[in-house]
Amino acid sequence: MKNLSIYIHIPFCDHKCIYCDFYSIITTENQSNFINAVTKEIGYYAELYGKNRIVKTIYFGGGTPSYLPVQAIKEVIENIKNNFKVYDDCEITLETNPGTVNKSKLKELKNTGINRISIGIQSFLESDLDFLTRIHDKKTAIATVENAADVGFKNISIDLIFNLPGQTKSNWLNNLSIAVELPVVHISAYSLIIERGTILNKMILDGKVNIGDEDFDADLYETTIRFLNENGFEQYEVSNFCKSGFESKHNLNYWNYGEYIGFGPSAHSFIKNKRWWNFSSLKKYIDEINKSNRAVRGSELLTPEQMLNEFVMLTLRSTGININEIKKKFKKSWLINNKNKLNGLEQKGLIIFDDNRIKLTPKGYLVCDEILLNLN
Ligand code: SF4
Repeated sequence: MKNLSIYIHIPFCDHKCIYCDFYSIITTENQSNFINAVTKEIGYYAELYGKNRIVKTIYFGGGTPSYLPVQAIKEVIENIKNNFKVYDDCEITLETNPGTVNKSKLKELKNTGINRISIGIQSFLESDLDFLTRIHDKKTAIATVENAADVGFKNISIDLIFNLPGQTKSNWLNNLSIAVELPVVHISAYSLIIERGTILNKMILDGKVNIGDEDFDADLYETTIRFLNENGFEQYEVSNFCKSGFESKHNLNYWNYGEYIGFGPSAHSFIKNKRWWNFSSLKKYIDEINKSNRAVRGSELLTPEQMLNEFVMLTLRSTGININEIKKKFKKSWLINNKNKLNGLEQKGLIIFDDNRIKLTPKGYLVCDEILLNLN
């Protein structure tokens, strides 16, 4: 039996944040049609791929999944369990935003079987939150984490963004200090990414906003790694840190090049050597599912070379390149071709050979992209 991860994209949001390029819509219309469509899609793919696979993780992302009624989330989980084989200890994560869940809703969510909650806080500083056009303030952010812990969530993750316009190093350190005092076991800390097509991108192009340069960004990143390590959070991927044993199993599956199926508009899937993605329009998604139980916008078959490159890129950025696996799955020659480069990286203290894996050191994480560019 192969392990499988399931992702469900919930596209509904309260409003569009200026930096966001995820597929999301500001409406609560069509929620029940959406759930019906997801139900059909689950049935379709379970029939195709469910027989020799077992679900290890389920992840509700978005959008703002906590915007859906609890009953709808419960239905989707039950549907997955009725159609796929699912591990008893399956990790079930729900992304949520402060301001969209109170304590009683968190409790109800926990009763559906969700055992991991990922909270999109981004910053505890009011001016950052205003800039990002988030709907919450510092108080609501902290209360959401505390409420989640109070109702019994042990596995709480938060997202934070650094290098926001006007953010100083001490502001950022203050954010990290607040975070590590909260009952969270996982922190995702991302540098602000300017995505094309977002309002923020236009603001930058129009010269209305400036963000810190590369050196400042690297300084904040280095500070993040050091501060979180000193406070008991181990780095296990470029942007992800956790207390021992609380890695996101769902993300680890992506980064270990495991298989996954995504349901909902814009969701991506990867099985064997095939990748496909759904239409990024709720209406189109529902129409297509009603016609044929699937809503595939595009697909590609990966060549062995593409798969090798992706495997190296994803695993080096996280738990490290598994030497046995790369020999078994791909060309043995990769290790031979890169032997000298790998030895050089080891001598510079950028990678280590540990437990049959090639892993980045904290220093290596800082130049991860350059290292990847040099390996072939
Ligand atoms: S809440 Fe999240 S998904 Fe929704 S618009 Fe804001 S950043 Fe995008």
